[in-house]
Amino acid sequence: MTDRNQWKHRATIILILVAFSSFIVFEQRSIDPIYTFQDLSKTSYAVKRDSLKKNWTCPKMFDKKETQKKYQEMWDSRKDFVVSSIDDNDYVYEKEIYGYISAILNDLIKANNGKVTPQYNLLLDRSSVVNAYAIGGNIIAVNLGLIEFADSREELALILAHELSHNILEHSENAMKDRAELLTSDEYKNSLNAVLDSKYERLTRLKKILEGYTFSRSRHNRYKESEADSMAVVLLKKAKISFDARYFLKLDSSDLHYQTPLKQPVGEYFKSYGIKFEDAWTTKRTRGLSSRNYNFKDTTKLQDSLKTHPDCVQRYEKTKSQTSPTLTFTPIPKSIKNKANKIILWNLFNNQNLTACMYRIMLAKDQNVADSWYDFMFHNAIIGLYYSDKNLMRFNSINVVQKELVSKNYFELQTALEQMPTDDIKAEYLGMQKLPFWSALNSDEKAFKELFNNLVNADFTDKTLRPKYSKEYLKNYPNSMYGEFADQFAN
Ligand SMILES: [Zn+2]
Repeated sequence: MTDRNQWKHRATIILILVAFSSFIVFEQRSIDPIYTFQDLSKTSYAVKRDSLKKNWTCPKMFDKKETQKKYQEMWDSRKDFVVSSIDDNDYVYEKEIYGYISAILNDLIKANNGKVTPQYNLLLDRSSVVNAYAIGGNIIAVNLGLIEFADSREELALILAHELSHNILEHSENAMKDRAELLTSDEYKNSLNAVLDSKYERLTRLKKILEGYTFSRSRHNRYKESEADSMAVVLLKKAKISFDARYFLKLDSSDLHYQTPLKQPVGEYFKSYGIKFEDAWTTKRTRGLSSRNYNFKDTTKLQDSLKTHPDCVQRYEKTKSQTSPTLTFTPIPKSIKNKANKIILWNLFNNQNLTACMYRIMLAKDQNVADSWYDFMFHNAIIGLYYSDKNLMRFNSINVVQKELVSKNYFELQTALEQMPTDDIKAEYLGMQKLPFWSALNSDEKAFKELFNNLVNADFTDKTLRPKYSKEYLKNYPNSMYGEFADQFAN
């Protein structure tokens, strides 16, 4: 059965159930919960965090006291970064995705026995940015944005092998060592002192020193990237996973998510819910900060500077001769891609990044995704906008992006969210609350709607109300992933 047929089928059931809902008590579980509140890293990675705190101690490297102290500082700040990211719930333990990535890692490790340490700490980062990172000490973090972006197991394996290589080659540790040495070197200190002593053109001279310093660092980094790429190819070949250098070229488009145009005008997505939308909202009336005229077409230069891993073309050129003669392509299971997208979407919403959240829903609609969960999130974004507006935080929650970084449609959506009259936003979310899709949702999702209504309607001068509603939600749905949102208001 295709998705579309399923949707038809489900729609019929819903219509019947809605008609008789006063007589029938039903618990329909058409949407599986994605993860639980306890799967967020503060709880699920607590053991990892504590062992990291205990075991990640800085080794003695330098005789020179000052240099060792600098090295220790960097080591500790790296540890603090990981520990605080875990405590901030930046990571999530989602069983299926975690299992899938771990299996690829294990294949790479097993096949390269001896070269790679068998003990790995995998962290799933909820970030939407297409990236993975190795922070040394056998830690590999994979962003959900990467899982959503990649199409095949082989593509993910290449990125994982690249990150493993950074760890094997101790790039992170060596970078800290080099930096500690440089910052405490006589040469560096003397040149800095010379600048500070000079009365004239202090700033220009200081700039020159720093430029020289960052230049050598970026050249060094490029070398490390290419070193990690070469080793990644070796690791893949040993594990009999095919390597396709063209994946590097594909990475070149990894920053373009919000530049993907929509299939319909922005207003149509609102109107499909039967709620009011005026197309005039998408055009700027006032000359605000973001109303400058930009050219939508020529953004090539700009895109290049935004890349998380630059030089994709060079990386392709350097490795293309190594491309496997026969290529296998194992698609990433749909359920994993869907989950990754949903977790990213929820995370964007929870971080009050409403434009990006809504835009992703529209992109999902363009893929004919028929899943009431996206309607639920569309509703949440609108009531969230209303809530922000009432709290004088509307501008923040839209998270305004420059015109040149996003598609025309994205910019129109952002403009509309800026300009929609408050009363219309209210009418929109109230209209959505009457739609039949709610019956396909789980009880914690329905209760989330009630929680939001309560938060919006609560007398804002009474500081006890919002914590009260939020605590109630947490008590009734202790495992729900939406508890994370309630938790923000609980105290
Ligand atoms: Zn790298």
